[in-house]
Amino acid sequence: MQSSELTHTLSFGLDIHTGSDDDLQNGCLEARRIRNETNRLDRHGWDWNDIKSTVVDNADHVKNTSQLIVDKALGEIETYHDNKDDGWGRPYPYIDEPYPIVMNHGEGYRLFPEDDGRIRFRITATRGTHVKGELRGSPDHFDRLRSAFNDDEWRVGIAEVVSKHDEWRLHITVTHENHRVASKHNADTIVGVDVNEDCIALAAMGRSGSVKDSVVFEYPSVKEQRHEFFTKRKRMQQAKQTTYETVVKTEERDYVHDCLHKVSRRVVEWVSQFSAPVVVFEDLKDMRDAIDYGTRMNRRLHSLPFAALQDMISYKAAWKGVPSDDVDPGYTSQRCPRTECQHTERANRHKKRFKCQQCAFQDHADRKAAVCVVQEWFDRETGNVPSLETLPGVKKVRRAASGAGGGPDSHGHSSCSGVTSAGEARGSQSQAREDLKSVALAVQD
Ligand SMILES: [Zn+2]
Repeated sequence: MQSSELTHTLSFGLDIHTGSDDDLQNGCLEARRIRNETNRLDRHGWDWNDIKSTVVDNADHVKNTSQLIVDKALGEIETYHDNKDDGWGRPYPYIDEPYPIVMNHGEGYRLFPEDDGRIRFRITATRGTHVKGELRGSPDHFDRLRSAFNDDEWRVGIAEVVSKHDEWRLHITVTHENHRVASKHNADTIVGVDVNEDCIALAAMGRSGSVKDSVVFEYPSVKEQRHEFFTKRKRMQQAKQTTYETVVKTEERDYVHDCLHKVSRRVVEWVSQFSAPVVVFEDLKDMRDAIDYGTRMNRRLHSLPFAALQDMISYKAAWKGVPSDDVDPGYTSQRCPRTECQHTERANRHKKRFKCQQCAFQDHADRKAAVCVVQEWFDRETGNVPSLETLPGVKKVRRAASGAGGGPDSHGHSSCSGVTSAGEARGSQSQAREDLKSVALAVQD
Protein backbone atom coordinates (compact mmCIF):
# COMPACT_ATOMS: atom_id res chain seq x y z
CA MET A 1 0.00 0.00 0.00
CA GLN A 2 1.22 3.46 -0.87
CA SER A 3 2.03 5.74 1.99
CA SER A 4 3.62 9.11 2.43
CA GLU A 5 5.84 10.83 4.95
CA LEU A 6 4.14 12.19 8.02
CA THR A 7 3.99 15.94 7.42
CA HIS A 8 2.23 18.66 9.39
CA THR A 9 1.70 22.27 8.45
CA LEU A 10 2.07 24.63 11.39
CA SER A 11 0.67 28.14 11.20
CA PHE A 12 2.14 31.18 12.97
CA GLY A 13 1.55 34.90 13.05
CA LEU A 14 4.53 37.18 12.51
CA ASP A 15 5.51 39.90 14.96
CA ILE A 16 7.82 41.98 12.82
CA HIS A 17 10.75 43.77 14.55
CA THR A 18 12.99 44.59 11.59
CA GLY A 19 11.72 45.33 8.11
CA SER A 20 8.02 45.79 7.41
CA ASP A 21 4.76 44.46 6.07
CA ASP A 22 5.58 46.23 2.82
CA ASP A 23 8.67 44.08 2.35
CA LEU A 24 6.55 40.93 2.66
CA GLN A 25 3.98 42.45 0.35
CA ASN A 26 6.69 43.11 -2.26
CA GLY A 27 7.89 39.53 -1.87
CA CYS A 28 4.39 38.19 -2.50
CA LEU A 29 3.93 40.48 -5.50
CA GLU A 30 7.18 39.21 -6.97
CA ALA A 31 6.00 35.66 -6.27
CA ARG A 32 2.80 36.47 -8.15
CA ARG A 33 4.78 37.82 -11.10
CA ILE A 34 6.81 34.58 -11.16
CA ARG A 35 3.62 32.54 -10.97
CA ASN A 36 1.90 34.47 -13.76
CA GLU A 37 5.00 34.39 -15.95
CA THR A 38 5.21 30.61 -15.52
CA ASN A 39 1.59 30.27 -16.63
CA ARG A 40 2.10 32.59 -19.58
CA LEU A 41 5.09 30.65 -20.90
CA ASP A 42 3.29 27.35 -20.39
CA ARG A 43 0.44 28.67 -22.54
CA HIS A 44 2.95 29.56 -25.20
CA GLY A 45 4.02 25.95 -25.23
CA TRP A 46 7.40 26.38 -23.59
CA ASP A 47 9.24 23.34 -22.31
CA TRP A 48 8.97 23.23 -18.51
CA ASN A 49 12.74 23.02 -18.02
CA ASP A 50 13.19 26.17 -20.10
CA ILE A 51 10.44 27.89 -18.11
CA LYS A 52 12.24 27.03 -14.89
CA SER A 53 15.64 28.34 -15.92
CA THR A 54 14.37 31.50 -17.64
CA VAL A 55 11.94 32.56 -14.93
CA VAL A 56 14.35 31.80 -12.09
CA ASP A 57 17.18 33.77 -13.72
CA ASN A 58 15.00 36.88 -14.00
CA ALA A 59 13.41 36.75 -10.58
CA ASP A 60 14.02 39.07 -7.69
CA HIS A 61 13.94 36.27 -5.12
CA VAL A 62 16.90 34.18 -4.00
CA LYS A 63 17.40 31.34 -6.47
CA ASN A 64 16.08 28.57 -4.28
CA THR A 65 12.90 30.50 -3.43
CA SER A 66 12.26 31.34 -7.09
CA GLN A 67 12.62 27.66 -7.98
CA LEU A 68 10.10 26.68 -5.34
CA ILE A 69 7.60 29.29 -6.54
CA VAL A 70 7.94 28.07 -10.14
CA ASP A 71 7.49 24.49 -8.89
CA LYS A 72 4.34 25.47 -7.05
CA ALA A 73 2.92 27.18 -10.13
CA LEU A 74 3.80 24.20 -12.35
CA GLY A 75 2.31 21.89 -9.73
CA GLU A 76 -1.02 23.66 -10.12
CA ILE A 77 -0.88 23.19 -13.89
CA GLU A 78 0.01 19.54 -13.40
CA THR A 79 -2.93 19.02 -11.05
CA TYR A 80 -5.13 20.52 -13.71
CA HIS A 81 -3.84 18.08 -16.34
CA ASP A 82 -4.39 15.16 -13.94
CA ASN A 83 -7.98 16.18 -13.24
CA LYS A 84 -9.25 17.91 -16.36
CA ASP A 85 -11.27 14.84 -17.33
CA ASP A 86 -13.23 15.37 -14.12
CA GLY A 87 -14.07 18.89 -15.17
CA TRP A 88 -11.30 20.81 -13.39
CA GLY A 89 -10.62 24.19 -14.91
CA ARG A 90 -7.20 25.38 -16.00
CA PRO A 91 -5.51 27.73 -13.48
CA TYR A 92 -6.18 31.39 -14.29
CA PRO A 93 -3.32 32.70 -16.42
CA TYR A 94 -3.12 35.92 -14.41
CA ILE A 95 -4.07 36.15 -10.77
CA ASP A 96 -4.51 39.51 -9.05
CA GLU A 97 -4.02 38.52 -5.46
CA PRO A 98 -0.52 38.14 -3.98
CA TYR A 99 1.04 34.67 -4.25
CA PRO A 100 2.82 32.97 -1.32
CA ILE A 101 6.59 33.25 -1.02
CA VAL A 102 7.71 29.59 -0.88
CA MET A 103 11.00 29.04 0.92
CA ASN A 104 13.36 26.33 2.14
CA HIS A 105 14.60 26.45 5.72
CA GLY A 106 18.17 27.72 5.77
CA GLU A 107 17.84 29.42 2.38
CA GLY A 108 14.71 31.54 2.04
CA TYR A 109 13.95 31.66 5.75
CA ARG A 110 15.50 30.67 9.01
CA LEU A 111 14.13 30.01 12.49
CA PHE A 112 16.01 30.51 15.74
CA PRO A 113 14.54 28.76 18.78
CA GLU A 114 15.51 30.57 22.01
CA ASP A 115 16.05 29.01 25.42
CA ASP A 116 13.04 30.83 26.83
CA GLY A 117 10.68 29.17 24.34
CA ARG A 118 10.39 32.05 21.89
CA ILE A 119 11.18 31.41 18.25
CA ARG A 120 12.70 34.17 16.15
CA PHE A 121 12.52 34.21 12.37
CA ARG A 122 14.37 35.73 9.46
CA ILE A 123 12.63 35.81 6.10
CA THR A 124 14.29 36.90 2.86
CA ALA A 125 11.33 38.82 1.45
CA THR A 126 13.05 39.62 -1.82
CA ARG A 127 16.71 39.29 -2.75
CA GLY A 128 18.70 41.18 -0.11
CA THR A 129 15.68 42.30 1.94
CA HIS A 130 15.31 40.62 5.32
CA VAL A 131 12.33 40.73 7.63
CA LYS A 132 13.01 39.66 11.18
CA GLY A 133 10.93 39.16 14.27
CA GLU A 134 9.22 36.59 16.43
CA LEU A 135 6.63 33.90 15.75
CA ARG A 136 3.26 34.04 17.45
CA GLY A 137 0.93 31.04 17.66
CA SER A 138 -0.88 28.34 19.57
CA PRO A 139 0.96 26.40 22.29
CA ASP A 140 0.46 23.21 20.29
CA HIS A 141 2.10 24.52 17.18
CA PHE A 142 4.98 25.91 19.25
CA ASP A 143 5.40 22.50 20.90
CA ARG A 144 5.46 20.74 17.58
CA LEU A 145 7.90 23.20 16.05
CA ARG A 146 10.24 22.98 19.02
CA SER A 147 10.24 19.21 18.93
CA ALA A 148 10.98 19.39 15.20
CA PHE A 149 14.18 21.24 16.15
CA ASN A 150 15.11 19.02 19.06
CA ASP A 151 14.31 15.62 17.61
CA ASP A 152 16.59 14.28 14.87
CA GLU A 153 13.72 12.36 13.31
CA TRP A 154 11.91 15.56 12.45
CA ARG A 155 12.86 17.93 9.66
CA VAL A 156 11.80 21.56 9.33
CA GLY A 157 10.90 21.95 5.69
CA ILE A 158 9.30 24.35 3.25
CA ALA A 159 7.46 27.40 4.57
CA GLU A 160 5.12 29.85 2.88
CA VAL A 161 4.53 33.50 3.69
CA VAL A 162 0.84 34.24 3.19
CA SER A 163 -1.42 37.17 3.89
CA LYS A 164 -4.66 36.03 5.48
CA HIS A 165 -7.39 38.28 6.81
CA ASP A 166 -5.03 41.28 6.69
CA GLU A 167 -2.47 39.45 8.75
CA TRP A 168 0.90 38.04 7.73
CA ARG A 169 1.38 34.39 8.51
CA LEU A 170 4.08 31.79 8.07
CA HIS A 171 2.96 28.22 7.27
CA ILE A 172 5.79 25.85 8.14
CA THR A 173 5.85 22.16 7.22
CA VAL A 174 7.54 19.71 9.53
CA THR A 175 8.17 16.14 8.39
CA HIS A 176 8.94 12.99 10.33
CA GLU A 177 11.69 11.03 8.61
CA ASN A 178 10.58 7.51 9.55
CA HIS A 179 6.88 7.74 10.13
CA ARG A 180 4.48 6.95 7.34
CA VAL A 181 0.83 7.75 6.81
CA ALA A 182 -1.38 5.48 4.70
CA SER A 183 -2.64 6.74 1.35
CA LYS A 184 -6.10 8.26 1.58
CA HIS A 185 -6.95 6.94 -1.87
CA ASN A 186 -6.63 3.33 -0.69
CA ALA A 187 -8.84 3.68 2.38
CA ASP A 188 -11.38 0.93 3.12
CA THR A 189 -13.30 2.91 5.72
CA ILE A 190 -14.28 6.51 5.09
CA VAL A 191 -15.04 8.39 8.29
CA GLY A 192 -17.04 11.58 7.75
CA VAL A 193 -16.75 14.25 10.44
CA ASP A 194 -19.30 16.93 11.19
CA VAL A 195 -18.08 19.47 13.75
CA ASN A 196 -20.68 21.50 15.63
CA GLU A 197 -20.71 23.96 18.45
CA ASP A 198 -21.86 21.35 20.98
CA CYS A 199 -20.88 18.01 19.46
CA ILE A 200 -18.86 16.20 16.84
CA ALA A 201 -20.58 13.52 14.76
CA LEU A 202 -18.74 10.70 13.00
CA ALA A 203 -19.99 8.18 10.46
CA ALA A 204 -17.80 5.33 9.20
CA MET A 205 -18.74 3.93 5.81
CA GLY A 206 -17.29 1.06 3.80
CA ARG A 207 -16.72 1.18 0.06
CA SER A 208 -19.98 -0.70 -0.49
CA GLY A 209 -21.98 2.08 1.13
CA SER A 210 -22.77 0.27 4.36
CA VAL A 211 -22.43 2.47 7.42
CA LYS A 212 -20.23 0.42 9.75
CA ASP A 213 -20.92 2.58 12.77
CA SER A 214 -21.54 6.15 13.86
CA VAL A 215 -21.17 8.13 17.05
CA VAL A 216 -21.92 11.61 18.37
CA PHE A 217 -19.53 13.01 20.98
CA GLU A 218 -21.33 15.75 22.86
CA TYR A 219 -19.61 18.60 24.68
CA PRO A 220 -22.32 21.10 25.62
CA SER A 221 -20.25 22.28 28.61
CA VAL A 222 -17.62 23.78 26.31
CA LYS A 223 -20.09 26.23 24.88
CA GLU A 224 -21.28 27.36 28.30
CA GLN A 225 -17.78 27.65 29.66
CA ARG A 226 -16.52 29.69 26.75
CA HIS A 227 -19.50 31.95 27.00
CA GLU A 228 -18.59 32.62 30.63
CA PHE A 229 -15.02 33.47 29.69
CA PHE A 230 -16.33 35.75 27.01
CA THR A 231 -18.64 37.62 29.41
CA LYS A 232 -15.94 37.91 32.01
CA ARG A 233 -13.43 39.32 29.57
CA LYS A 234 -15.95 41.79 28.31
CA ARG A 235 -16.67 43.04 31.84
CA MET A 236 -12.96 43.47 32.44
CA GLN A 237 -12.45 45.33 29.19
CA GLN A 238 -15.16 47.74 30.26
CA ALA A 239 -13.49 48.17 33.67
CA LYS A 240 -10.08 48.42 31.95
CA GLN A 241 -8.62 45.67 34.16
CA THR A 242 -6.07 44.55 31.61
CA THR A 243 -3.99 42.38 33.94
CA TYR A 244 -6.95 40.25 34.95
CA GLU A 245 -8.11 40.18 31.40
CA THR A 246 -4.80 38.60 30.43
CA VAL A 247 -5.20 36.04 33.23
CA VAL A 248 -8.66 35.11 31.97
CA LYS A 249 -7.36 34.87 28.42
CA THR A 250 -4.67 32.45 29.55
CA GLU A 251 -7.17 30.38 31.54
CA GLU A 252 -9.44 30.25 28.56
CA ARG A 253 -6.62 29.27 26.26
CA ASP A 254 -5.57 26.44 28.59
CA TYR A 255 -9.16 25.30 28.94
CA VAL A 256 -9.72 25.20 25.18
CA HIS A 257 -6.38 23.50 24.65
CA ASP A 258 -7.30 20.81 27.16
CA CYS A 259 -10.69 20.25 25.55
CA LEU A 260 -9.20 20.01 22.07
CA HIS A 261 -6.83 17.30 23.25
CA LYS A 262 -9.53 15.29 24.97
CA VAL A 263 -12.11 15.49 22.22
CA SER A 264 -9.57 14.74 19.49
CA ARG A 265 -8.20 11.77 21.42
CA ARG A 266 -11.67 10.24 21.70
CA VAL A 267 -12.29 10.80 18.02
CA VAL A 268 -9.03 9.18 16.94
CA GLU A 269 -9.57 6.21 19.28
CA TRP A 270 -12.94 5.66 17.70
CA VAL A 271 -11.61 5.99 14.16
CA SER A 272 -8.73 3.56 14.84
CA GLN A 273 -11.06 0.60 15.34
CA PHE A 274 -11.75 0.39 11.59
CA SER A 275 -9.61 -1.12 8.87
CA ALA A 276 -7.65 1.35 6.70
CA PRO A 277 -9.61 4.47 7.67
CA VAL A 278 -9.40 7.98 6.26
CA VAL A 279 -10.79 10.91 8.27
CA VAL A 280 -12.74 13.35 6.10
CA PHE A 281 -13.55 16.90 7.17
CA GLU A 282 -15.41 19.72 5.55
CA ASP A 283 -12.91 22.18 4.16
CA LEU A 284 -13.23 25.21 6.45
CA LYS A 285 -11.63 27.47 3.85
CA ASP A 286 -14.56 26.85 1.53
CA MET A 287 -17.01 27.29 4.37
CA ARG A 288 -16.61 31.02 3.92
CA ASP A 289 -18.33 30.79 0.59
CA ALA A 290 -21.24 28.76 1.87
CA ILE A 291 -24.49 30.69 1.89
CA ASP A 292 -25.23 30.17 5.55
CA TYR A 293 -21.67 30.90 6.61
CA GLY A 294 -22.53 34.02 8.63
CA THR A 295 -25.15 32.48 10.85
CA ARG A 296 -23.28 29.24 11.27
CA MET A 297 -20.11 31.01 12.31
CA ASN A 298 -21.88 33.30 14.70
CA ARG A 299 -23.31 30.33 16.49
CA ARG A 300 -19.84 28.91 16.70
CA LEU A 301 -18.28 31.90 18.36
CA HIS A 302 -18.41 30.35 21.80
CA SER A 303 -17.66 26.80 20.86
CA LEU A 304 -14.39 25.03 20.23
CA PRO A 305 -12.33 26.60 17.46
CA PHE A 306 -13.17 24.31 14.56
CA ALA A 307 -9.98 24.70 12.60
CA ALA A 308 -7.90 23.91 15.70
CA LEU A 309 -10.02 20.87 16.47
CA GLN A 310 -9.70 19.48 12.94
CA ASP A 311 -5.98 20.19 13.02
CA MET A 312 -5.60 18.31 16.31
CA ILE A 313 -7.58 15.32 15.05
CA SER A 314 -5.50 15.17 11.85
CA TYR A 315 -2.33 15.40 13.89
CA LYS A 316 -3.25 12.60 16.28
CA ALA A 317 -4.62 10.45 13.44
CA ALA A 318 -1.41 10.89 11.44
CA TRP A 319 0.59 9.54 14.36
CA LYS A 320 -1.45 6.36 14.06
CA GLY A 321 -0.73 6.32 10.33
CA VAL A 322 -4.29 7.41 9.53
CA PRO A 323 -4.61 9.99 6.71
CA SER A 324 -7.04 12.93 6.67
CA ASP A 325 -8.77 14.64 3.79
CA ASP A 326 -11.04 17.62 3.09
CA VAL A 327 -14.13 17.91 0.95
CA ASP A 328 -16.10 20.87 -0.28
CA PRO A 329 -18.74 21.56 2.40
CA GLY A 330 -21.51 22.10 -0.15
CA TYR A 331 -24.84 21.57 1.48
CA THR A 332 -23.99 18.65 3.74
CA SER A 333 -26.26 19.92 6.51
CA GLN A 334 -29.32 20.31 4.29
CA ARG A 335 -29.07 17.45 1.83
CA CYS A 336 -31.01 14.19 2.08
CA PRO A 337 -28.49 11.31 2.24
CA ARG A 338 -30.69 8.84 0.35
CA THR A 339 -28.91 8.56 -2.98
CA GLU A 340 -32.18 8.25 -4.88
CA CYS A 341 -33.53 11.44 -3.28
CA GLN A 342 -30.79 13.96 -2.37
CA HIS A 343 -33.40 16.65 -1.88
CA THR A 344 -31.66 19.76 -0.51
CA GLU A 345 -33.59 22.33 1.44
CA ARG A 346 -32.98 24.39 4.53
CA ALA A 347 -36.28 23.22 6.00
CA ASN A 348 -34.98 19.63 6.02
CA ARG A 349 -33.12 20.48 9.16
CA HIS A 350 -34.64 21.59 12.41
CA LYS A 351 -32.10 21.82 15.22
CA LYS A 352 -30.87 18.27 15.82
CA ARG A 353 -33.54 16.65 13.68
CA PHE A 354 -33.25 16.01 10.01
CA LYS A 355 -36.45 15.25 8.14
CA CYS A 356 -36.43 15.24 4.36
CA GLN A 357 -39.32 17.37 3.08
CA GLN A 358 -39.54 15.17 0.01
CA CYS A 359 -39.10 11.55 1.07
CA ALA A 360 -39.61 11.91 4.85
CA PHE A 361 -36.29 10.26 5.68
CA GLN A 362 -35.40 11.11 9.27
CA ASP A 363 -32.18 11.05 11.23
CA HIS A 364 -30.05 12.82 13.81
CA ALA A 365 -29.06 15.96 11.86
CA ASP A 366 -25.34 15.91 12.69
CA ARG A 367 -24.84 12.19 12.14
CA LYS A 368 -26.58 12.59 8.81
CA ALA A 369 -24.27 15.49 7.94
CA ALA A 370 -21.30 13.20 8.67
CA VAL A 371 -22.78 10.64 6.25
CA CYS A 372 -23.09 13.38 3.63
CA VAL A 373 -19.41 14.28 4.12
CA VAL A 374 -18.53 10.67 3.25
CA GLN A 375 -20.79 10.82 0.18
CA GLU A 376 -19.08 14.03 -0.90
CA TRP A 377 -15.76 12.21 -0.65
CA PHE A 378 -16.98 9.27 -2.77
CA ASP A 379 -18.33 11.65 -5.34
CA ARG A 380 -14.98 13.39 -5.68
CA GLU A 381 -12.76 10.29 -5.45
CA THR A 382 -14.71 7.87 -7.61
CA GLY A 383 -17.48 9.95 -9.20
CA ASN A 384 -19.89 7.38 -7.80
CA VAL A 385 -21.75 7.48 -4.48
CA PRO A 386 -22.77 4.00 -3.28
CA SER A 387 -26.42 3.87 -2.35
CA LEU A 388 -27.07 4.23 1.32
CA GLU A 389 -28.06 0.94 2.88
CA THR A 390 -28.91 0.90 6.55
CA LEU A 391 -27.95 3.37 9.24
CA PRO A 392 -27.08 2.05 12.68
CA GLY A 393 -28.70 3.59 15.79
CA VAL A 394 -27.21 6.86 16.94
CA LYS A 395 -24.75 6.42 19.79
CA LYS A 396 -24.10 9.45 21.89
CA VAL A 397 -21.23 9.98 24.25
CA ARG A 398 -21.72 12.91 26.54
CA ARG A 399 -19.39 14.69 28.89
CA ALA A 400 -20.66 14.36 32.43
CA ALA A 401 -21.81 17.71 33.74
CA SER A 402 -19.63 18.68 36.67
CA GLY A 403 -20.60 21.20 39.33
CA ALA A 404 -23.46 23.06 37.75
CA GLY A 405 -22.70 26.69 37.02
CA GLY A 406 -18.96 26.36 37.70
CA GLY A 407 -17.68 29.74 36.55
CA PRO A 408 -14.28 30.58 35.21
CA ASP A 409 -12.85 30.67 38.74
CA SER A 410 -13.68 27.08 39.52
CA HIS A 411 -13.06 26.49 35.89
CA GLY A 412 -12.05 24.19 33.41
CA HIS A 413 -10.24 21.04 33.42
CA SER A 414 -12.58 18.95 35.50
CA SER A 415 -15.69 19.88 33.59
CA CYS A 416 -13.80 19.04 30.50
CA SER A 417 -12.66 15.63 31.56
CA GLY A 418 -15.69 13.59 32.48
CA VAL A 419 -16.50 11.85 29.28
CA THR A 420 -18.83 8.95 30.00
CA SER A 421 -19.38 5.99 27.78
CA ALA A 422 -22.40 5.63 25.55
CA GLY A 423 -25.74 5.52 27.26
CA GLU A 424 -24.49 6.38 30.73
CA ALA A 425 -25.86 9.86 30.62
CA ARG A 426 -29.54 9.80 31.32
CA GLY A 427 -31.74 11.54 28.86
CA SER A 428 -29.42 10.94 26.01
CA GLN A 429 -30.32 7.27 26.25
CA SER A 430 -33.97 7.76 25.54
CA GLN A 431 -33.05 10.26 22.87
CA ALA A 432 -30.84 7.67 21.25
CA ARG A 433 -33.65 5.13 21.34
CA GLU A 434 -35.93 7.61 19.66
CA ASP A 435 -33.33 8.16 16.98
CA LEU A 436 -32.93 4.45 16.52
CA LYS A 437 -36.66 4.09 16.02
CA SER A 438 -36.93 6.86 13.50
CA VAL A 439 -33.95 5.59 11.56
CA ALA A 440 -35.42 2.09 11.44
CA LEU A 441 -38.72 3.52 10.18
CA ALA A 442 -37.04 5.57 7.53
CA VAL A 443 -35.12 2.59 6.25
CA GLN A 444 -38.30 0.57 5.83
CA ASP A 445 -39.93 3.33 3.80
ZN1 LIG B 1 -35.11 12.60 0.89
